[in-house]
Amino acid sequence: MSVSFAEAESVVVVVGAGPTGMMLAGELALAGVDVAVLERRPGREVTGSRAGGLHVRAIEILDQRGIAERFLAEGRTVQIARFADVVLDVGDFPTRHPYGLALWQRHVERILADWVGELGVPVHYGHQVTGFAQDDAGVDVRLAGGRSQRARYLVGCDGGRSPIRRAAGIDFPGSEATTSWLIGEVEMPGKPEYGMHRGPFGPGGIGPTEDGGPVRVVVAEREPATGAEPTLDELREAVVAAYGTDYGLRDPSSITRFTDATRQAAAYREGRVLLAGDAVHVHSPIGGQGLQIGMQDAVNLGWKLAQVVAGTSPDGLLDTYRAERHPATARALRHTMAQAALAGPGPRSEALRDTVAELMAMDEPRRHVAALISGLDVRYDLGEGHPLLGRRMPDLDLDTAGGPLRTYALLHDARPVLVNLGEPGAADVGAWADRVRQVDAECAGPWELPALGPVPAPDAVLIRPDGHVAWVGEGSQAGLAEALATWFGPPAPL
Ligand SMILES: Cc1cc2nc3c(=O)[nH]c(=O)nc-3n(C[C@H](O)[C@H](O)[C@H](O)COP(=O)(O)OP(=O)(O)OC[C@H]3O[C@@H](n4cnc5c(N)ncnc54)[C@H](O)[C@@H]3O)c2cc1C
Repeated sequence: MSVSFAEAESVVVVVGAGPTGMMLAGELALAGVDVAVLERRPGREVTGSRAGGLHVRAIEILDQRGIAERFLAEGRTVQIARFADVVLDVGDFPTRHPYGLALWQRHVERILADWVGELGVPVHYGHQVTGFAQDDAGVDVRLAGGRSQRARYLVGCDGGRSPIRRAAGIDFPGSEATTSWLIGEVEMPGKPEYGMHRGPFGPGGIGPTEDGGPVRVVVAEREPATGAEPTLDELREAVVAAYGTDYGLRDPSSITRFTDATRQAAAYREGRVLLAGDAVHVHSPIGGQGLQIGMQDAVNLGWKLAQVVAGTSPDGLLDTYRAERHPATARALRHTMAQAALAGPGPRSEALRDTVAELMAMDEPRRHVAALISGLDVRYDLGEGHPLLGRRMPDLDLDTAGGPLRTYALLHDARPVLVNLGEPGAADVGAWADRVRQVDAECAGPWELPALGPVPAPDAVLIRPDGHVAWVGEGSQAGLAEALATWFGPPAPL
């Protein structure tokens, strides 16, 4: 929903209507938070092409909110996880979506924007945030043109160059770029052959854009360059270096640059200002991780921020956001660095690719690496215990008094749920009944986790709104009250 800007106070202001900001806005709206999105683009239209698809966990996250079908209906399911040029087939993974989804980011953003609109979130396009000032009670969000908006919390989902991260003075340490690429959407009357191509400076390719529009070319540059606005001459030079001709390229509708610089923010929060998505992590797009990591940030942060805003949880709950997401993302980032190293030019990189490709053809390495790339092996450190603890809950079929139900259907409203699989009433949310749903169910399983394999069937599971398991019952309620208090605030007074 695009509405005119009102200088009214919102409880949470999200800066950036990219996939992370929109996912977060949806999460907050589901939890009943008054949230507004400020976006500098003039409208919903996204120019240029970035992500080409979603991995398994991203599809599962959308499924947890009941909107996966909207994306599946527009894209093409395909095996997209790759390592060392080998396609890693996840067809045998224990998930309802054992595939990736080929769907351009502009469509992902459009469908998310529709969802957020249905949830009633105002998205103010043409609003560039220039900085902020915070005090004990809230944040003044400054906009170009001298206006400002007051909020209790501000979340910067404003991309890799994040003005909010910079204004907050948060360090962004990591590795400098070793390679830069240009992506151009141009006319190419010279009719190039479509496909991947390994040029002298790195991999790239040429292919069609949608609807018979311009040609999409990706080329590595001679020297790693920075700067957001590359020129047609720079694109031409890189295409000639890679292909020996420029195919007469002209009339660019967009030219952008990306690099394999890999950085992660030292802090994800400064007081009432939080960051998510590319604002806290940038990396090589090889491996296609950015969008799904940003979505995981959003679903991790959304319910926590909502509970703090509502006063049901103390402010400290927000610190678990970085504690969980930073290590999980650091692991994914190291993997993208490995992918970038493998993709390098020269005979030694080629030999390394061949060697790793041999390993990827084996079952165990394939499952291990594919689980990582698919986002299915994330485990938040919630202590020792059952293998489900801290991991994503599988979407199993449940039998309940009200009929059959998928586990993810219980998460559509982004509320926590205790699924009791033992005797009716054996596990009970007790004094948390005002905020944690309880379902008695039977489940035939199979209880199996990607890469890990079969795990013991639990007697009960406490599932957080982000789909991660906060407590596992194994014959008793030991630890349940502590888990409920940790994640969902102190018990309601009797
Ligand atoms: C070539 C390429 C290919 C990729 N392929 C994949 C892939 O296959 N799979 C995958 O998962 N990821 C991929 N990625 C990564 C993915 O595109 C990003 O990780 C993703 O866009 C991050 O989403 P975000 O919402 O965090 O940030 P962004 O998408 O960058 O959104 C940030 C938003 O904030 C707005 N904004 C910025 N500053 C301000 C301001 N001051 N005021 C108001 N608004 C502001 C911007 O206009 C933008 O809309 C690829 C990236 C590239 C470059």
